[in-house]
Amino acid sequence: MYNLFITSTNRYCYARTMLGAPHTFAICTECGRKNIHFLPISEQASLLIEGGKRFPDFLSFGDVGQYFLVSDTVVSVFEANAVSGYYVEKALPVYREVRGELQKVDDIQYFLLKVIGKVDFDLKAMHLKKKCVCKSCGRFDWSIQKLSIVDTKLDMNTWDQCDICRVSSSPGFIVCSEKVANLINQKKLTGVYIQNEKDIFRNR
Ligand SMILES: [Zn+2]
Repeated sequence: MYNLFITSTNRYCYARTMLGAPHTFAICTECGRKNIHFLPISEQASLLIEGGKRFPDFLSFGDVGQYFLVSDTVVSVFEANAVSGYYVEKALPVYREVRGELQKVDDIQYFLLKVIGKVDFDLKAMHLKKKCVCKSCGRFDWSIQKLSIVDTKLDMNTWDQCDICRVSSSPGFIVCSEKVANLINQKKLTGVYIQNEKDIFRNR
């Protein structure tokens, strides 16, 4: 599979925050870690955009939360090609801050996709272990601190065959099948790098 690395560059806009998507923090009584809890996204939720002029197909998000934000082009391409592993959760209008005031950007909206496909790392092959796993909240530490030295590998026995998946042990990472990687290249979808499976922990 391939890693989808969505990044903000100078060229493209990114979302600074999602308005109407509240969260709170709570200390786990078992391990003492501070955990984030997401509250339901409001009906009127919207995106606050920052950065460049051009809107990419895959929108980078700069605040807390693992949101997968894509353009209508991506939704059409995925639908036309029966890409599996997600559903469209919400359409989000886009706002920009102009001289201290929020202004709606007309003619554009992004779609929040909920990724439901799943796959997990082959930790044995990666010589990586989870340590200090909390029985209550499930948080853990990796046995290696500098993860960028680790070649990542997915355990295909854990793959649910979906084209788009979150990595169960590190749900911040989204991976895709070769079919999706080819579609991104063929349709020249912007704002995303397709990285090799072994480079999931490496930022480009
Ligand atoms: Zn805990």
